[in-house]
Parts: sequence; structure tokens; C-alpha cells
Amino acid sequence: MAYAAAATPRPILSLQKSGAAYPTAYPLPPVRQNLPDDYERWYTEASATNRMLLSLRSGIPKEVNWALERMCRLSNNDQFVLKNIIGLTDALVEWPEWYIARGVDLCHLDSMFSMPSSLSRQKRHALEAIFILRNASLTEPNAQFLATHTRTLHMIRKALHRIKADSDTNSEFLLHVVDLAYSVISCLSIDQQQPGGIFSTASLIEPLERIVETSNDRALIITVLRTLTLIISNPKNVSYNTTTSPALHASIRYLPLLSDTPLVSSCLDHIYAHISHAPMVKSFLLLPSMPGLLKVLVTLLLREQQEELETVDLLPEPPKTAPAIVTVRQQCEPTPEELDRIANLAEPERSYEWMRSLFMSSDAEEVTQVEFWSLYRDTFSPRTDVQPLLSAADVIKNVTQVFPTAQAMVLPGQPQRFVIRGIVRKMVDVTKERFKCHWNRSTCTSVTFTSSGTLWTHVLEHLSADDATTTACQWGSCPYTALSSSALKFHCTTHIPSPEPPKRHPSQMENITLPLTPYPHPSATPTKRPIPPPPDPQLVFPQPSADPPSTSLTALLIIRVLFRASFASTDAAPRADEEHFGFPGVVEEDTEEEMRDVMEDEMSREKGRKAFTGVRNLIQEVRVRDPALMAWIGEIIDVSLDEKATNV
Ligand SMILES: [Zn+2]
Ligand SMILES: [Zn+2]
Repeated sequence: MAYAAAATPRPILSLQKSGAAYPTAYPLPPVRQNLPDDYERWYTEASATNRMLLSLRSGIPKEVNWALERMCRLSNNDQFVLKNIIGLTDALVEWPEWYIARGVDLCHLDSMFSMPSSLSRQKRHALEAIFILRNASLTEPNAQFLATHTRTLHMIRKALHRIKADSDTNSEFLLHVVDLAYSVISCLSIDQQQPGGIFSTASLIEPLERIVETSNDRALIITVLRTLTLIISNPKNVSYNTTTSPALHASIRYLPLLSDTPLVSSCLDHIYAHISHAPMVKSFLLLPSMPGLLKVLVTLLLREQQEELETVDLLPEPPKTAPAIVTVRQQCEPTPEELDRIANLAEPERSYEWMRSLFMSSDAEEVTQVEFWSLYRDTFSPRTDVQPLLSAADVIKNVTQVFPTAQAMVLPGQPQRFVIRGIVRKMVDVTKERFKCHWNRSTCTSVTFTSSGTLWTHVLEHLSADDATTTACQWGSCPYTALSSSALKFHCTTHIPSPEPPKRHPSQMENITLPLTPYPHPSATPTKRPIPPPPDPQLVFPQPSADPPSTSLTALLIIRVLFRASFASTDAAPRADEEHFGFPGVVEEDTEEEMRDVMEDEMSREKGRKAFTGVRNLIQEVRVRDPALMAWIGEIIDVSLDEKATNV
């Protein structure tokens, strides 16, 4: 038991302390330096005298218990390599073997009453041992080793055939066995899985299907479906692939549990493994549950798709607009009468009045001194007979008398600018058209007026100039005929626009959207201009924002396979009948079986087509980011649309 002594650090330390047990040349054991638990050398030591193996083999319940508990933790560690500890796998397999051969029956007998402690302990050991093997098989080297370990393979086969998932213990035991089987089968070649090979997987189909059919343990169902998918994906096992498979029906039954992604993923993989075998598709289409399955698959796609709103500008740039009411602003000019009055005033009063009539205060704006002086000079120089002109300096200086915030200043720069800051020319709205005279059927040549008052004065001139006996209104195309000239005058007020522009209707836009093609604005014939683009030329629509998850892709693949089978054109050689000669060289045997096959083909396609027509509205909502996959969806919608049309 030298190793056992070395495995536990305490005796060594005590011997070292005494200083007499070891010769000085004896290598000291490595000093333990913060080594994480489970990584200590003595647990994973590749030796037939491994501490855990010896404990397991000892048969002493306490030792076995210690070893199994220790390995339950270690088995999750990549340092735990079964192959390295010779004899460990055999020692572990003994416990599950006992449970399969005897334990399951003993536990079943005692299930009504409290179990004897020894049996309870043995049962726990069996569960722990299979759990350790299952955990270990998750790493590649262990799985490959177990795939060659005949005793383990026998144990798996026996367990699946003998143990029924009728209790919690059995379900747990089977769960580990099936997981172990999955790892082992993944490491076997197709030939090794043949009946004559190392591990015949075909014989496992029946017990596994029975488990799926009878168990209500979700974890067990997922694991078994996954393992069955692996087995029937083997081309040599294709003959076991039937539409009567309980696992297939279970997959279809569990698929609507869409929120359970692991379960849905296993079901989808299993269904796909079935229908990826071409001859299966025909009978699959004839299943009564097929239309419902198709609907669930499309619902899954819709549920898992992620969308965001995408905005597309229809125009390269925003549309051009123009104000709805054209207002023309002009610099204010005093009337000749006003100018006469100002010209006769004495200076500096004259310059003050002149400024008040032409300028207004505006902090942010300015007028150049040259412009200001020239305007004064040009206005009054023809009238020097009345009042002599002031000097330029005086006129500019007087600005502050009228506009206290204004100031003459020199702005630095090249060249310097001499300005009066704080004043601006008065502007007046001269809105064309609104105050235009339309008398004499719109032939009046008078200028456009600036206000309704001046227009009315002008219209009154027309009325008084016209013959007093004329009572027909001459405004534009107005058909009004008054009884008297006073009534006509009264009527004419209706043609005078209001001083303020009419109020805009709330629904009317502030601006006019102009056409994209060049067209004059404003134009005399606005109704003839090309149609403008929409005022808000943006298109907003949902777009997939992420690629679909793998479950959606498998669902889409299943839909695609079913679709191709339903809408496939018959590529069989034309058969001879009353209207056809048949295909040359093909010897036709109109056996009853062949005829039945043809009928069945047609029936399955018809059923498939009906199912796709039924889900067309749902499929229209499906959006996939990948253009190739989206083309599949488009094809389904197009073809099922045609189908619907022909059915109608
Ligand atoms: Zn007129
Ligand atoms: Zn009129």
C-alpha cells in the first residue's frame, strides 16, 4: 500500500518531520501550490493502482461510495480519461449491469414500501456509475474508447431492451444510457452499426421509439429523439424509416410547444430525418396530421422572425416647394405729396422726416453711408431752391437723432466699410394679383394696387366714368346685372379682396409641391403642370433584422421538401393511352400495383397542394433576410396562388 500512503499527503509530512524515514536522496513529493480541487495528481493518475479504482473494486460500501462520488465530480473534467485507468470502465459498468439484470426487478418489488438500505445504496451506485460513464462519454477520447468497449455496448443494448421508463429512477437511468448511446454511435462508422458490426443500431430503434411513445419525461424525449435521428440518418437504416413510426408521430405531436426550443429543435430534426428520404415524402403527405404540421411550421417561422421598420426615400432629394401665396416686398417710397411736404420743411427737420419715412430701426442690419447719403442727395438736390442740402457728415450724424440705437461706424477689413448700423430700408408687401383691377373684362391697364383701399378708389373711378345707365358689372367674367347704379356699386365691393390674405384651411399645406420636371412657377396655367411627387415621398415597411435561428432554417427546409413533392411536375415517361403513343422503348406493364402507385402519387400531391393553399395567407407574412431563402417563400406563394385560382 505504498501508493495509498503517497496518495494522502499527511503521512508523508509527518515522516518528513521525524527526519528518519526517508534517505536524503529520496525525491520529495511536489509541494501543493494552490492546485484547484479535482486536478490533484492521485485522482487522474494513469495506473492500475489508481486510488479511485482500488476503492471501487474493494467492495467496501464506504470506499465504493467515496470513489463514485469523487468520480461524479471528476467525470466532468477533461483530465478524466477512462482509457488511461485500466480496468476502471469494467469496474464502472458492473453497477449498471447489476441494475439491468437484477436491480430493476428488486426495486420494482420494493416500490410499494421503503427500500432496504443496502438495495437503496446499490441503486444509487448504479445510477452514479451510469452517470459517470455518460459524463465521460461527452469528451471525444472517452466516447471513442467506449465505442470499442464491448461490455459497455452490451450493457447499453440490454438496458434499452429491458428497462421501461415507468419510474423516476428508470427514467433517469435510461436518460444516461441514451446519452451514452448517442455519444457512442457518433463515433461508430456506418458499417460498424450494421447487424454484423460491433453495435447494431437498427435493433435499438424499436425500444427507443417505445420510450418516446410512453415517457412523459421531457429530457428523456429530447435525448431519445436526438439519438433516433442519428440512427435513421444512417443510410443503411433507411428501411426502418416509416410513417407509422411512433417517434415521428410524437415529434409532430410535441412540435406545437414552440416556446420549448430544445424540444422543438429535436422534433424538427427528427421529422427532417424522415422526409429527407425521398420515398417517404409521398406517404408523409398522406398523413392526416400533415396539414396541421405545415401550419405549425409556418407559425414557427413567423414566431422566430425579427423585424424592424425600414424607411426608403422614393426621391433622391426632398421635393421642391414654393409658398402657396406669392408675396412681393418692395422698398417703401414716399408718395409725391408726402415728398413735397418733407421737402418744404427746414433742415434738420427735413432730414429727420425723410429718414422716418424711408427707414426703420433694426439692430442686426446696416446701410452703407454712401448709399444713405446718395439717397438723400438724389431726393433733394433738384429742390435746393427750397432748402439747401446738408453736408454728408451732418446727414449721417442726424441718424442718431431719429434712431437712437443706430450708429455710424467703420468696419475693419480690406477694404474698410463705412456703414450705419441699426437701420434698414422700410419694406412694403406688394402682393401681385390680389389688388389688381379686373374692370372692362380684365382689360384695365392700370398698375397693380398695394391695398384694397386704393383699388376701391380706382374702381369707383371706373363706375363714375361709365355711363350711368350701364348696370352690368364689368369685373372679369362677372355676369351680374344690377337694377341701379347704386346697387352695382354695392355689388362691386364683393370684388375687392380683403386687406389680409385669406386664412389657410388646416388641411391645406403651407407650401406648394412643385413637379420634378422643370416647369415655371408661378405660371399662368398651374392646372396644366405635371403631377408633383407625393409630399412625403417615404416608404416604410418591415424588414427582417436578423438571420433566422437554426430551428427556423430546419422548419423552412421541411416546408421546402414538402412543397417540392406537392408541386413537382410528373417527370414520368408519357404513357400510351387513347390520345398518346407512349414513350418509345419503354415497355409498359400495366400491372395493378403500378396503377395503384400512380394513383397514390396523384393523391399525395393533391393533398400537399391543398395544404399549401391553406397556409398561403400565413406564408405571405414570412420574411427571411437571405435572398435565396426568401426566393423559396416567394415561389411557394406564387405557385399556391395559381393553385387557388385553378381550384376556384
Ligand atoms: Zn381699372
Ligand atoms: Zn361683378
